[in-house]
Amino acid sequence: MTEPERLFESLLASERTVIGQIEIRRSDLAFALSHRDDVGRRDLRDYAAEEAIEIAKFDDVGNYRPLKTAPNLRHGWRILVPDLATIISVIDAIYPGRLAVWRVWRSGQLLPTPWRQTLARQSGIYRVAAKISDAQTDDLIGDFCRSDGGCLRTILWKRDDSGASPSTRLSLEKFDPAHDQTGGGRTAIPLLCQEACNLLIAAARKVVKGES
Ligand code: SF4
Repeated sequence: MTEPERLFESLLASERTVIGQIEIRRSDLAFALSHRDDVGRRDLRDYAAEEAIEIAKFDDVGNYRPLKTAPNLRHGWRILVPDLATIISVIDAIYPGRLAVWRVWRSGQLLPTPWRQTLARQSGIYRVAAKISDAQTDDLIGDFCRSDGGCLRTILWKRDDSGASPSTRLSLEKFDPAHDQTGGGRTAIPLLCQEACNLLIAAARKVVKGES
């Protein structure tokens, strides 16, 4: 068993585990993965593990999901898998990179990158995004990253080297890996955000350019 599988197995000791909007249920012969809201439904369509990447592409009404950790994972699917390695591959397909970051964070070796540092690294048309003010940053991140309608990740990065919060408009829970960002109040494996994503940088550029 690989190190990720061992770590994951310790969490799957309970009958049910959640990560983001995915619930994993254990039975004698298999694990069942589905949307958290769908537990108990009997009309779910079965998919193969290899189809998980397609499940993650579109929301319930067929809109493309550019941000895979947005709280709009589609409903109505179930994936039965026989082992931990396949569970990990399904989660990696739906929430790319999140298990790897979580593992590094658990080892104490994750180094989040402050907002201003990520902005300073940008080149080409995104270089201008670094001109965003702190007040604009406060509003942008408070809206773009919010868990209810924005993104389910837990923010680990700061605004700058002073250690200031990225946005005073977000509750302290948004920065707490122990908090279930779906609002479900469960003990969940957190989807961690170690640095501002490309979509947020693109949104910052629009703010600076006066396009939003
Ligand atoms: S910066 Fe992080 S928390 Fe904000 S939207 Fe992007 S991935 Fe989500």
